[in-house]
Amino acid sequence: MLITPKRAFEIVLKNVRPLKSVNKSLSEATGCCLGQDVCADRDSPPTDRSAMDGYAVRTGDLRRPGRELRLVGEVAAGSPKRPRVYPGTCVRILTGGSIPPGANSVVKLEETEETPGLVTFLTTTTVGSNVRKRGEVARKGEVLLPKGTVLGPAQIGVCASVGKAMVRVHPKPRVAVLCTGEELREPGSRVGPHQLRDSNGPSLCAALEESGHENVTPRIVPDAPGVLAAKLKMAAQRHDVVIVTGGVSVGKYDFVPEALGRIGATIRFHGVAMKPGKPQLYATLKPNRHIFGLPGNPLSVLTGFYELVLPAVRRMSGLSVESCRPCLHLPLTRTIRSKGTRSEFVLGRLVRGKNGSQVTPVKSSGSADLVAGARADGVIVVPQSVSHIPKGQMVEFRPWRHIP
Ligand code: AMP
Ligand code: MG
Repeated sequence: MLITPKRAFEIVLKNVRPLKSVNKSLSEATGCCLGQDVCADRDSPPTDRSAMDGYAVRTGDLRRPGRELRLVGEVAAGSPKRPRVYPGTCVRILTGGSIPPGANSVVKLEETEETPGLVTFLTTTTVGSNVRKRGEVARKGEVLLPKGTVLGPAQIGVCASVGKAMVRVHPKPRVAVLCTGEELREPGSRVGPHQLRDSNGPSLCAALEESGHENVTPRIVPDAPGVLAAKLKMAAQRHDVVIVTGGVSVGKYDFVPEALGRIGATIRFHGVAMKPGKPQLYATLKPNRHIFGLPGNPLSVLTGFYELVLPAVRRMSGLSVESCRPCLHLPLTRTIRSKGTRSEFVLGRLVRGKNGSQVTPVKSSGSADLVAGARADGVIVVPQSVSHIPKGQMVEFRPWRHIP
């Protein structure tokens, strides 16, 4: 019995959990999800600071332009000095310097003239001008990055600024890619007319690399149940997620379901009402191992990967359920027709116009048409029982890549 893609997604999410968080240094943590809240260790900025190069003054001394004040000291960024500003005096201050006691404003350099020991102010000023108040960015103890935040450049910077040289993050699951098929050869090999170069393996490894999983090497496995079972078992011992392509359908040489039985895996579903990718399969193996079987045609592989496998991998990496499968809502440039018997995932390309982005369907000759896939940025979701989406209507678009 076929289940809906929605149900398949629910089953996968019910079975996967974020991996236990570990301590990593900041340089290793880029792209990881936080396993803890990161809080401010002190007020930020920790003192009232100058936002400009200029002079710290008392506003009462500058009621009109042209006043002269005696220069009594200097506070550079990083200087612990605290020279007091008495009435009639000022202190030179540089961006990031702490506002000295007595001062309540900073006049920028461009609005002054300095002669030895004296500064002429060409303007007046108001209380708090060019001053960054203590705690205006964050208060001590405040949660700055909640658990689950993905660590990009700004977030890594926040961790560093609050003194976290090490952070607790969820590790990325270890992923294996096995490509089954007697017809497959390595991309660098000579091929006979009866043979095919493995494109699924390199394709999936590239998709994984874009998601921060480096150095995954695809393995080609022949259509032999014994060998397949042994390879699956070994892969599942060493990895959290195993992706198998090909061999999951009902053909004489489709041995993945049998091999999963041999190694004691539990098949959670086999067959999803989606096009492409109907024979899709998901199984689990103790402890906490996940095996995805994707039918071998290259577009079935990519569709299954982005619909189910990558969301599972992201969830295991600590991403929230809501953000593990991104979706955009965009207007359609051309009408789409479908048989309406299964959910369809139609290749789509983003087009950018004056009024923002739209998505246009990409023609393909079927699930083997990887060249059409290479012209697409993702898929347009056509729900089951919808046979026609008119031009201009908003559709769900699932990007396959980061859209700049
Ligand atoms: P299967 O799901 O094993 O019946 O495979 C379906 C079709 O997908 C095969 O006939 C091949 O044409 C194609 N195919 C399977 N595996 C690969 C692969 N690794 N790379 C490219 N094409 C493949
Ligand atoms: Mg096959």
